[in-house]
Amino acid sequence: MNNLRKCVFPDNLNAALTALGDRKSLPFALAGGTLSGKNIGPETVTLVDLKRLPLAAIKTTAAGLSIGALATFDEIENSRVVKGWAGGVLCAAAAKCSSQLVRNMATIGGNIARPNAFNVFPPLLLALDAKVTVAWKGVAKTFPLAGLYDGTLKKIPGRDCLITGIILPAASKGLKCAFEKFARTESSWESYITLAMCAEVKKGVIKSARIGIGALSAVPVLAPKAAAALTGETPGEAAGKAAALAGDLAGMRISPKSVEFKKEVAAALLRRFVVSLA
Ligand SMILES: Cc1cc2nc3c(=O)[nH]c(=O)nc-3n(C[C@H](O)[C@H](O)[C@H](O)COP(=O)(O)OP(=O)(O)OC[C@H]3O[C@@H](n4cnc5c(N)ncnc54)[C@H](O)[C@@H]3O)c2cc1C
Repeated sequence: MNNLRKCVFPDNLNAALTALGDRKSLPFALAGGTLSGKNIGPETVTLVDLKRLPLAAIKTTAAGLSIGALATFDEIENSRVVKGWAGGVLCAAAAKCSSQLVRNMATIGGNIARPNAFNVFPPLLLALDAKVTVAWKGVAKTFPLAGLYDGTLKKIPGRDCLITGIILPAASKGLKCAFEKFARTESSWESYITLAMCAEVKKGVIKSARIGIGALSAVPVLAPKAAAALTGETPGEAAGKAAALAGDLAGMRISPKSVEFKKEVAAALLRRFVVSLA
């Protein structure tokens, strides 16, 4: 940070985007600072502190559940609105972030901005079919979360644009969901595998399922084979098909030393979720 000369604290989105758009001032956007506080690039001249932006609101809208990018893990974990959505699975996931100190500062926008295998929200938001809203000078766009990672955006969040919020579709409110972070300790950031499991159950039958996998690749992926195996089954029948998740893991780059262990753990976690749907 030897070149850092200026800190700006914009209190509206336009001012933040203007500061970020001034490429000559070599700006860097900082939210909670938990991930990048210690690693701000040495070239950075201007720190654009996002904390004063009015982007932390959590509310329901006609589109679904809207979560501002600056909402912290702690605010999400303790939000009554979030507790009432999809069985409160986002609260459960926020609580799995390693320590209260980090949860107080870390934001959901910062959690999804950069691909990181161990971050809790990307696989869960993928499983919930979330959309993100991104803004840059004069433009605001909403698109599926995967667009942040698959090149659709064509911009680097925090450098060329800002994530302003996350929207969970209205249809996700009644889903049955579970979030599992299988790690060495409860306070570990790293995990062996992370699973976000969501299912729509009607009249005792699984109508649809979406399973997000984290920790095994930089960006989260869905498990379409397992989802297809569960769909149309009763929880009792589906429990016997949880091993289908191994088929989804087979296509991933996992160390040969741990692949069988991870397949077994993943199937056990999925089976436990499916049984809970009965
Ligand atoms: C000790 C420790 C333990 C941790 N444990 C966990 C854990 O268990 N689970 C977990 O998921 N994470 C964990 N983390 C990682 C980190 O806390 C999260 O990734 C956090 O959500 C980052 O958010 P932030 O607001 O602090 O981001 P920052 O550090 O402020 O920023 C991170 C990056 O995102 C960009 N950015 C931030 N906000 C936006 C935005 N609105 N739009 C565009 N770009 C943006 C910044 O420019 C920067 O490049 C841990 C971190 C530490 C230091």
